[in-house]
Amino acid sequence: MSNSGLVFLGPPGAGKGTQAQILATKFSIPHISTGEILRTAIAQQTPLGQKAQSYVDQGELVPDELLLDLIRDRLNQEDAQTGWILDGFPRNVEQARFLDALLGEFNQSCDCGIINLHVDEEILVERLLLRGRKDDQEETIRRRLQVYHEQTAPVISYYQEQGNLYTVDGSSDMEKVTEAITSIITDQLEIGSGVG
Ligand code: AMP
Repeated sequence: MSNSGLVFLGPPGAGKGTQAQILATKFSIPHISTGEILRTAIAQQTPLGQKAQSYVDQGELVPDELLLDLIRDRLNQEDAQTGWILDGFPRNVEQARFLDALLGEFNQSCDCGIINLHVDEEILVERLLLRGRKDDQEETIRRRLQVYHEQTAPVISYYQEQGNLYTVDGSSDMEKVTEAITSIITDQLEIGSGVG
């Protein structure tokens, strides 16, 4: 089955969540945010939430084994069969390899596009401090940025080698960023032409 899968990459504060939400609505595909799933699990104190809480609070990645089955189940659901936007996953190269293997296993011939949102670090810190989520305290922000550089930035090279990575300047107005990503989706990836 052909599947329009989009992965949104970028450091914390780059606008992945905001853009993923807007574009998921525009292209009528589900927005799957591992951060949101974890925050909900923590708020409800489910077994996943209890295991994940200290990692999220400290700005560390939660262990892969807590997320892999969850992603498998989510991408297996009915509404994800024609497309999806992943926001916050993969967060390291092991997760990226897992996703490739999973899509192979599901036999989804995936026209995957990787949208990499780039924003300079001073702007990221400013934005995150303004957002004021529980893990947006200055010390946790610094740790999350460090974790991004150490573990998530290598995912960019991983996809660059596969030739389906598109880098977008995420520092301009929200509308301009949405427009830039929409052009990539419709012109380069040829997903959902005629939508919008
Ligand atoms: P986010 O909302 O994407 O910024 O994620 C918030 C927090 O959830 C991160 O700082 C991590 O602690 C955790 N998290 C989200 N996605 C992942 C993932 N794919 N792997 C590990 N931890 C994650």
